[in-house]
Amino acid sequence: MMNIILFGPPGSGKGTQSIKVAEKYGLVHISTGDIFRRELKEKTPLGIKAQGYMEKGELVPDELLIDILRSEMEKHVNPEGFIFDGFPRTIPQAEDLDKLMPELHAEITNVLALEVNDQEVISRLLKRAELEGRSDDNEEVISNRLNVYKTQTRPLINYYDEKGLFAGINGVGSIEDIFTNLCNVIEA
Ligand code: AMP
Repeated sequence: MMNIILFGPPGSGKGTQSIKVAEKYGLVHISTGDIFRRELKEKTPLGIKAQGYMEKGELVPDELLIDILRSEMEKHVNPEGFIFDGFPRTIPQAEDLDKLMPELHAEITNVLALEVNDQEVISRLLKRAELEGRSDDNEEVISNRLNVYKTQTRPLINYYDEKGLFAGINGVGSIEDIFTNLCNVIEA
């Protein structure tokens, strides 16, 4: 089983690359951001709880995440593996995942981060705001999401590096070139 974590700042192309990786290796793609957006659209209690955090560019509280992830994973019988897109986002979430994986007889095989500088991220997200109209893609929320990434998510690099699982990948370039680099690391 191949279980990959893909993270990176907002606008780094995690979503696009996760879908391509999932397709190539037959993995189940789990995006916690997509789950929250779906729940919000359907106005479920979880969606309503997450709404305020998402609109401000804050993280949804850690304790809500692991049960969502577990139930998403348990929907699939004998999967080839998973690609986690946007999860974990904090050290406590990573610790929860470390407990969950052995319960599901699985382990993390790769942790990959797409590296994109601030300027590029901001210009991509402003472009996405025009195209997709995502309510959390405005200048103030973008800058908060970047801050949240740096303070809460980036420490995961050390966490996974110490376990020998981490690799950073240049996230600036063509979608195909970035994808090739990701695949090379996955297959190494
Ligand atoms: P994303 O599409 O991955 O950028 O996620 C959009 C928003 O959903 C984030 O800004 C957070 O508010 C929330 N979110 C998604 N994944 C997580 C997570 N693992 N932990 C906390 N909040 C999350």
